[in-house]
Amino acid sequence: MGKAVVFGSFVVDLMARSPHLPIAGETVKGSMFKMGPGGKGFNQGVAAHKAGADVVMVTKLGKDTFADQALNTMDALGMPKDHLFFTEDAETGIALILVDENTSQNEIIIVPGACNTITEADTDKLEPLLKEAEYVLLQLEVNQDANERVVGLANKYGCRVIVNTAPYSEITDEFLSKVYMVTPNEVEAEEMTGVHVDGLESAKEAAAHFRKKGVKDVVITLGSRGAFVSSEGREEIIPPFKVDAVDTTGAGDAFNGGLLAALAEGKDLWKAAEFASALAALSVQKLGTTPSMPEREEIEQFLK
Ligand code: ADP
Repeated sequence: MGKAVVFGSFVVDLMARSPHLPIAGETVKGSMFKMGPGGKGFNQGVAAHKAGADVVMVTKLGKDTFADQALNTMDALGMPKDHLFFTEDAETGIALILVDENTSQNEIIIVPGACNTITEADTDKLEPLLKEAEYVLLQLEVNQDANERVVGLANKYGCRVIVNTAPYSEITDEFLSKVYMVTPNEVEAEEMTGVHVDGLESAKEAAAHFRKKGVKDVVITLGSRGAFVSSEGREEIIPPFKVDAVDTTGAGDAFNGGLLAALAEGKDLWKAAEFASALAALSVQKLGTTPSMPEREEIEQFLK
């Protein structure tokens, strides 16, 4: 089994529900509060680990009590913690999530904090890890100059780079040219290529844009319609597993973690996308993000 690395964000999700969302200047008495680990990077790392991957999670935390949300989760799951960075100069990242309990509408403020301050001295320490790893999975939630340095190191050692282009932000053509695979959802695919993705033909058109920039494989997730996969002249939509979804937050994170885990253990892209779809389908049937990521055994049972 090949080693995999997830390089990305950690934030603590602070979620409060109330009868309505506050307007400017208003204080609303809420009915429920929940705190838990989050951040696209961390969710994807947890998904890959629970799916059985030999994965190393790399992120940056503050020296505060919120960091414990990451450390305690990693301890409980048996995830290696030896590639975490810490800073005294920034707080651990947080996401303030306000949810209207009647309409389920939400308002979110993300402050990436520590994981947005990853320095060159930090990424330099990853050289031995990237030399050994087969795949590294990134998102766009940490400071992009750190992503660029990680891609540079990965390229130097033939470690394949997968970029989950979420949340959408502008990236350079030079960065894309060094990337092996991109995994946007349909909204991000449109933002990045200008092509409105709503089916096989438009997905092929969007994939061609990425390929022109030097990306080899393209996976576009289509929510409850499945995932489009494009590799070496073969382009298809992998249908979704039919399940009763209760919470699709983090579906993309589940999918990406599953894709990484499957690729790192040598599955081809088609089998890996099927594995990722199964993992995501299991996760949307449960509430929450990291707690909803299924264990390996559950995924295998589901795929039988
Ligand atoms: P994101 O959360 O990044 O927007 P998507 O919504 O595209 O990601 O979902 C990622 C993947 O999760 C999809 O490609 C699909 O395999 C799976 N998925 C999402 N929603 C459902 C659903 N309702 N039922 C089954 N699978 C789903």
